[in-house]
Amino acid sequence: MSSEMFDVIVIGAGPGGYHAAIRAAQYDAKVALIEKSKVGGTCLNWGCIPTKALYSTAKLIEDLAEKAKDFGVKITGAPQIDFAQAVERKNKVVTELVKGIDELLKTAKVTVFNGVGSFVGGNKDTGFEIKIEGKNPANIKGKRVIIATGSEPALIPAFNIDHKRILTSDDILSPNFKTVPKRLLVIGGGVIGCEFANIFTRMGSQVIILEYLDTILATEEPIVVRELKKKFQEMKFEIYESQNVLKVENTGNGVKATTCSAKIPKEQVATAEKSYHEADLCLVSIGRNKVSNNLNLGCLKIQNTRGQINTNPKTLETDELGVYAIGDVAAGAMLAHKASHEADVAVFNALASLGFKDVKPMEPNLTVLPATIFTSPEIGSVGLREKAVKDKGIKAVVGRFAYASLGKAKCTGEDQGFMMVISDPDTDKILGASCIGAEAPELIAEISLAMRNDLTCHDIAQTIHSHPTISEMVLETVEDCHGTAIHKAGRRRRPSAAGKAH
Ligand code: FAD
Repeated sequence: MSSEMFDVIVIGAGPGGYHAAIRAAQYDAKVALIEKSKVGGTCLNWGCIPTKALYSTAKLIEDLAEKAKDFGVKITGAPQIDFAQAVERKNKVVTELVKGIDELLKTAKVTVFNGVGSFVGGNKDTGFEIKIEGKNPANIKGKRVIIATGSEPALIPAFNIDHKRILTSDDILSPNFKTVPKRLLVIGGGVIGCEFANIFTRMGSQVIILEYLDTILATEEPIVVRELKKKFQEMKFEIYESQNVLKVENTGNGVKATTCSAKIPKEQVATAEKSYHEADLCLVSIGRNKVSNNLNLGCLKIQNTRGQINTNPKTLETDELGVYAIGDVAAGAMLAHKASHEADVAVFNALASLGFKDVKPMEPNLTVLPATIFTSPEIGSVGLREKAVKDKGIKAVVGRFAYASLGKAKCTGEDQGFMMVISDPDTDKILGASCIGAEAPELIAEISLAMRNDLTCHDIAQTIHSHPTISEMVLETVEDCHGTAIHKAGRRRRPSAAGKAH
């Protein structure tokens, strides 16, 4: 057993952990990265990337089915879907990206250990000892430790997840899952549920979504969700909202979910009227558990709340000084880019505390945290929603612009949807934005840059956007905050827009 001393040990190699390891190595730290499965974590292997690879097939099917004829491309008969080939492609995309991360870690001179890492003891003055269990067991020491152990699908007992007919997202994204069910029941109409529902509808499944809350995608702007539902209805999705799923069973040749209204008080559920939903397979996508129970946290002062590791919000340091926690296992949104941002924070704070040259401590800044949903149409959002602005009594104006009025969107045939930008009429700064339609997640990136740097609607309006591009959606929408969008009829100029003409 070696007991090598590293400057930084990172546990978990998802977008939080591998980012932290490479960043620390860029500053000449001696870094170890421990991963029990594959580098890339949930994001590359069971999350963002495989879903988007399958989404790309779904999008191509949609384009062929809905656009080809109109665009002058004749396809005899309906396009044939080869799901097994789509999965092969998805697997290839994942394998290539994982290999890429392995290479990056190698060239950054990060020492990667394959196995489960857990704490043995120590402190920030003597260093922390970590035990690695796996094929090549080892004990290593680190002056600072970053926990980035992420999350995994929640296994709810009443849903009898058997990984055969009642599945998690990990099951559906496994390299060997090549089935398109005739009927797919999706429990949970959040981002993951809606993305899978969209993919499988395009593959030919009849999809049924059961959602506990009053609406699917409850955190998004209601007007945006209404627009998505319109499309989902066209695609003949069955969406049941306010549904309390009481149990799910594998019936041998299918699955059956028993539900009652989510409005019924707990004590009356047993006698309440029940509904039944049957399908061939069921995807349970109702949440994720934080992974920290395999770390032997009890030997240090690290506190957690139901698996979520407590951290100082300004430093991301745990109650055990010198140990940091980032990404899904810590508080906040479960998003890959949030994990990577926090990786920088933890690395800079760790290295600054060790006196590394050119390194300054850093505080997280999650006020501008964009979110994206890859349904069809796509959705992007950042900052405040209109309802929050109204509820909080914040003075605001809302600019809106429809894809139908944009030249490039007409050319590509993606002229459904809209963008909205909420701005402060006094400062002209952007408070939030939502977009549903072509390239919505990419458009939100421009708004995020503006918000992060305190740019105004005027600043964006003064920036030349090349024509014809989808990015002109941003230009027209911020101009509409001033009532000056050129391609929108019947708007009056608002002279009060921070004193700017437009
Ligand atoms: P993870 O990516 O979960 O990585 C943690 C790693 O730690 C894992 O590899 C695990 O094996 C390892 N590990 C755990 N315990 C130990 C241990 N004791 N020792 C060694 N290794 C350990 N986010 C987006 O931003 N955009 C998207 O489009 C998106 N799509 C998603 C789609 C799906 C289906 C899912 C499930 C998630 C999606 N997410 C998306 C969320 C995103 O994947 C996560 O937020 C992100 O992966 C979190 O990164 P992380 O580094 O904190 O943890």
